[in-house]
Amino acid sequence: ASAISIKGLLKRYKAAGREDILALDRTDIELAEGEFVALVGPSGCGKSTLLKILAGIQPPSEGEALIKGERLTGPRPDVGVVLQSPVLFPWRTILKNVMLPVDVLRLDKRRYRSVALELLKLVQLEGFEGRYPRELSGGMQQRVAIARSLINDPSLLLMDEPFGALDAMTRERMNAELQRIWMERRKTVLLITHSIPEAVFLADRVLVMSPRPGRIIEDIRVDLERPRP
Ligand code: ADP
Ligand code: ADP
Repeated sequence: ASAISIKGLLKRYKAAGREDILALDRTDIELAEGEFVALVGPSGCGKSTLLKILAGIQPPSEGEALIKGERLTGPRPDVGVVLQSPVLFPWRTILKNVMLPVDVLRLDKRRYRSVALELLKLVQLEGFEGRYPRELSGGMQQRVAIARSLINDPSLLLMDEPFGALDAMTRERMNAELQRIWMERRKTVLLITHSIPEAVFLADRVLVMSPRPGRIIEDIRVDLERPRP
């Protein structure tokens, strides 16, 4: 089965006292396993809406969204998600925030503690494991969310502008790390980005969404022969 299969997906937001907002208009998408796909489009066109539906945290109004051939009923353990603004638990330390999926899925805490510390190193937050989210900048919090999305090695990654709040140098490093993880651990990645150069550099396929109501209007294959980091 495809990693992601979307057919006729439509999302309508009800607005009290105003007209409904049509965010997605019967869009179709197929992602094969192992693809790295970037999703670009104008602000407000429905990209985040699409990602939240695939993450199982928002239901579609109409149409079908399948992950590996299965209908979505909620968040899935094999899908790692990074939302546009990081959602961390303020009462949990950084380490415990990264470990959240381990607790929720009741995995072996001792084993995953070292994985969490390794991921904190990868997102350049070594030494911050005992701190609390409020002690970290927005960009650092976003990197905690990235580490958390990777903790149980999900086969599918959904990322909504994960590097938007980062400075240029950190952003470049994170891009390289993401590409390395994708190659080494054979993941399927759907990445929303504002940056066309970033999309073309990272992805092997770029999907372009129309202005709202969003639907995929272009599906571009990027040359796979170019060198990879
Ligand atoms: P993008 O990620 O491409 O910027 P979004 O998916 O965030 O677009 O939003 C698409 C449209 O839906 C926008 O007009 C936005 O204002 C609207 N929207 C998003 N979330 C909600 C919501 N929870 N309630 C009402 N309208 C929403
Ligand atoms: P401890 O490890 O001391 O048991 P936790 O850090 O796991 O404490 O949890 C602290 C608080 O956060 C508890 O009230 C717990 O119910 C709540 N909590 C933990 N995980 C979640 C979650 N995924 N969603 C909502 N609340 C949570």
